[in-house]
Amino acid sequence: SPRVVIIGAGIVGTNLADELSSRGWNDITVVEQGPLELAGGSTSHAPGLVFQNNSSKTMTEFATYTVNKLLSLSKDGQSCFNQVGGLELATTPERLADLKRKMGVMTSWGVESRIIDADECEKIYPLLNTGKLTGGREVLGGLLIPTDGLALAARAVQLLIERSRERGVTFLGSTTVTGISQWGGKVTGVETSSGVVPADIVVSCAGFWGRELGKLVGLDVPLLPLAHQYVKTTPLQELQGVNDLPNGAQKPILRYQDRDLYFREHGDRIGIGSYAHRPMPVDMEQLPRVGAEEMSDHRMPSRLDFTLEDFAPAWEDCQDLLPALHATQIEDGFNGIFSFTPDGGPLIGEAPELSGFFVAEAVWVTHSAGVAKAVAELLTEGRSRTDLHGTELSRFEKVQTSDDYVSETSQQNFVEIYDVLHPLQPKESPRDVRVSPFNVRQKELGAFFLESAAWERPHWFEANRALLDELPAEWQAPEREPWAAMFSSPISAAEAWKTRTAVALYDMTPLKRLAVNGPGAQELLHRLSTGNIAKKPGAVTYCLLLEHDGGIRSDVTVARLAEEDFQLGVNSNVDFDYLRVEARKQSAADPAKWVHVTDITGSTCCIGLWGPLAREVIGKVSSDDLTNDGLKYFRTKEISVGGIPVTAMRLSYVGELGWELYTTAEYGLKLWDLLFEAGREHGIIAAGRGAFNSLRLEKGYRLWGTDMTTEHHPYQSGLGFSVAKDKVGFVGAEALAARKEQPAEKVLRCLTVDDGTSIVLGKEPVYVGGVAAGYVTSAAYGYSIRKPIAYAWLPAAVSEGDAVEIEYFGRRVAATVSAEPLFDPGMERLRG
Ligand code: FAD
Repeated sequence: SPRVVIIGAGIVGTNLADELSSRGWNDITVVEQGPLELAGGSTSHAPGLVFQNNSSKTMTEFATYTVNKLLSLSKDGQSCFNQVGGLELATTPERLADLKRKMGVMTSWGVESRIIDADECEKIYPLLNTGKLTGGREVLGGLLIPTDGLALAARAVQLLIERSRERGVTFLGSTTVTGISQWGGKVTGVETSSGVVPADIVVSCAGFWGRELGKLVGLDVPLLPLAHQYVKTTPLQELQGVNDLPNGAQKPILRYQDRDLYFREHGDRIGIGSYAHRPMPVDMEQLPRVGAEEMSDHRMPSRLDFTLEDFAPAWEDCQDLLPALHATQIEDGFNGIFSFTPDGGPLIGEAPELSGFFVAEAVWVTHSAGVAKAVAELLTEGRSRTDLHGTELSRFEKVQTSDDYVSETSQQNFVEIYDVLHPLQPKESPRDVRVSPFNVRQKELGAFFLESAAWERPHWFEANRALLDELPAEWQAPEREPWAAMFSSPISAAEAWKTRTAVALYDMTPLKRLAVNGPGAQELLHRLSTGNIAKKPGAVTYCLLLEHDGGIRSDVTVARLAEEDFQLGVNSNVDFDYLRVEARKQSAADPAKWVHVTDITGSTCCIGLWGPLAREVIGKVSSDDLTNDGLKYFRTKEISVGGIPVTAMRLSYVGELGWELYTTAEYGLKLWDLLFEAGREHGIIAAGRGAFNSLRLEKGYRLWGTDMTTEHHPYQSGLGFSVAKDKVGFVGAEALAARKEQPAEKVLRCLTVDDGTSIVLGKEPVYVGGVAAGYVTSAAYGYSIRKPIAYAWLPAAVSEGDAVEIEYFGRRVAATVSAEPLFDPGMERLRG
């Protein structure tokens, strides 16, 4: 097997050594700067609370795997997990509603949980104050997850070291990695304080030192080391003689998120963690320098001095919630260091510029074994069985890995970590980082922007509010509950109406675009995609990029602009990194087949001009032939719009007649103005993503990352049509052929909600015959079809016409599996 060096013997590095060696890899060295008995990283002081609850399916899977693995990891009759359960409290109605929603998400991800009332909370946790809390609040109930509990992280590290050593893994303690050696774009080894260790693969599991390790290879690892306060109290009378061990615990781990606090038992003491304090970024130069012989529970590089003044307000809240704490004091406190990232997720993946250099950082104890398993699969099989798109190192745009961006967004994530967050809740800052050329007009029209990949994207335009007076009654959407309705607007109904009945402009600029050029362009795209892209220039193909096992890594539109020039619409930076790395490999293997991949998103822009009157509008400013014969559906050509050079593609994600109109950034504003002016007499409007999302669901157009991921193959996702017939030899082809033969267990289905009014949000569980059997992906109100829509993964046996139920904030909503697409199945409007 390849020679692997793992940097860091914390909970992530040791789990990875274990996962790799258990898969038979036999040349593994773990290099750790601290002593192996107590390395001194975040793991060495982690109190080990494991709450599996997470809005991300991937993160919950990581946590569940970690729980099960640590439960099974034992020695002398003691396992590394104390399954005391987890209890999240609600002291506000908003929190209680949110816990109900979270219970649904847990059901969707297969974790058992239940909502309990205040009495049961007290029964389970007798130390709770069940009277009035300061501010008049009180415990209203909680979410109980029986399989949560406490990881014995430091012990797990020792047992994992022991087990991996037996399998031949070498551990080098008190050895600091000082450099990464490389040759020809590949890692060749790590330089350490005691010489070079050769390697084909290096995985940095350096925790909050990750950014420093990245710097050794010119990689901006977007994580911020932050200090976080944890204290232990003096003994409680109420806990005397209850737990045998000093760190023993029986009561569930407890979260009091309305005051940013969590609790666990340590024998007869209570341990308390607080996120209520100011974010405290850590200067890596100021870490305590601790020699191997001085390392102890109280002195280690990841432990800064306690700042009591930061904890004082939280201490009052602790005593308020658990009155028994009035009789105690803070016996021991510290400001421990760990990593935060711009979106709160971990960082997993290979450096695009250095083959063989991997990262697995910003990982909690909670997710550690799951992450290690995913990385082990990535290394040994080429891909993880768990969908990693939300955790990929390369998911961030360049600007999002800068010091300023990482610092600001990570601190905001720290502040908001326990807030009740709406799924669409935008970042407050930094904003206006990436704006399209139309931004100034959008602002004039009162755009409400949300942010994605640092782009500002209009969701609706206040200028269209007046249209609500004209909106026919049948187009009006039912009212939503105030919380669910946040970050959406009734105006979207009017924008959908105008798109279906007149014409609208959509800003498609933020969707990532790549130029793929060179004599090897066709070969690259032929090899990596499911599409038949070897067509004449002018063809546009919707197809997929697959993993080797047939899972969908992305969906793309490939436009052949010229023999050697392609333009691709892709999903994210992850696609860009994948394609450019593959292009580089191909160019190196055969220079005659060189190919270059460029991100042209920022240097170009795109308007979707869509609606039944789109042809009238463009006809006023372009003399090019845009009739059905002049530019057929799924074809592209260069046209002129009022003198502006435009690449027009006859496509529509909303399912209406029209074009995606691309030009370079400097012409964007002029193009917008020309079209707007030309459309005035036809009632043209600017429309936002609120309408867009509804219209695309009516047409059954899937959104990669939400509706399908690497966990799904094309046939079960309703995307079999995008695999070119008889095409062989592309990545994933063999696995796909096999999968086509086997009936899929789960399929993506279209549901409509029977009451016509319950608009769900996504991630809700779906019940079939009273049993939780699947979960919702995308959801929206379908304005043209006058029903709420929800796409959902369901057992294949569930078929059209079947009745199911969606659990929404704790209540069951009846829905029906429907034929799709719901709107214009004959494609008459698109081809009109
Ligand atoms: P670490 O344990 O930090 O390991 C990284 C290792 O890399 C270190 O041992 C370090 O010495 C080594 N290293 C770094 N640079 C080099 C180099 N150049 N050469 C060689 N070795 C190097 N998580 C939970 O899930 N539940 C909790 O309840 C919880 N509570 C927490 C409470 C506090 C106060 C804090 C600060 C964190 C808490 N966390 C918790 C987070 C958790 O502790 C960390 O996310 C986790 O331990 C990180 O593990 P790791 O293996 O990635 O990093």
